[in-house]
Amino acid sequence: MAVRIDGKAISAKVREEVAGEVAALKDQGIQPGLAVVIVGDDAASRIYVNNKKKACEAVGIYSEEYALPGDTTQEELLALIDELNRKPEINGILVQSPLPKGLDEAAVVEKIDPKKDVDAFHAYNVGKIMQGQYTFLPCTPAGVIELIRSTGVDICGKQCVVIGRSDIVGKPMAMLLLHENGTVTICHSRTENLGEICQGADILVSAVGKAHFVRGSMVKPGAVVIDVGMNRDENGKLCGDVEFSEAEPRAGFITPVPGGVGPMTIAMLMKNTVAAAKLQHEVRS
Ligand code: NAP
Repeated sequence: MAVRIDGKAISAKVREEVAGEVAALKDQGIQPGLAVVIVGDDAASRIYVNNKKKACEAVGIYSEEYALPGDTTQEELLALIDELNRKPEINGILVQSPLPKGLDEAAVVEKIDPKKDVDAFHAYNVGKIMQGQYTFLPCTPAGVIELIRSTGVDICGKQCVVIGRSDIVGKPMAMLLLHENGTVTICHSRTENLGEICQGADILVSAVGKAHFVRGSMVKPGAVVIDVGMNRDENGKLCGDVEFSEAEPRAGFITPVPGGVGPMTIAMLMKNTVAAAKLQHEVRS
């Protein structure tokens, strides 16, 4: 039976470290600040934004929320980003996705000052991640690396399989595993023999967005299984991509949903906001 990776406990430790760093910065007269922009009234986005606000309060980060109506124009949104780029008390800018139809998300991300791009989605930061010289790591993949580290399993030399190739999870996830010297395979909707490829994975990361997608038979005995998926099952219950009851008896380590990757994402956002404040105030760690 697999050991459950406790994302809540591990993220609490990260947040504690961040709170310590925030306190040290405050002693130097620096207050890290995060602006969260939400457009429209998507219920799930609202929950994520509230959680981010609460996390900021808990670690002592100053936060501002900009809740814009669903009919906000591209020009209005870009003007707000421009204003936040110039605002000294704001070190990090996060635009909650998805944006309502008609708004160009990529153009909005590119408008964010790369130094304030705490999601690490700007092309400049994506390029830096490719080169392995980064200030910010994308929050979810960075959180996954921490979860894998917590198991004591060394990524170096391991067969790592990432299912999903999105810009925000799959691709940067694969890159971070590569930086850790994993041997990485990226799978997607056109991949042939997916089950067979997964069966060879010492470390399996699923970021697909489909309930019951990873079956127990796809899990190599003893593998580390990380479930990034956040889905609703037939009963409306929050679940991941992995069929937990089948995978848990085979895996060595496994993340539950909820309580696995989700809490880590927010903790890493807090970490990036502090890193952004240090960068902008030229504080060396
Ligand atoms: P996405 O942009 O929809 O990407 C999904 C990926 O899954 C795509 O690359 C797609 O392949 C692949 N895929 C779809 N069907 C497949 C199949 N049958 N076989 C193999 N691959 C398949 O989603 P995302 O933004 O990366 O998010 C993925 C999941 O993670 C979602 O459930 C999301 O809610 C969750 N998430 C969680 C957190 C967290 O903090 N826990 C953060 C971000 C996202 P193609 O490219 O070929 O279409």
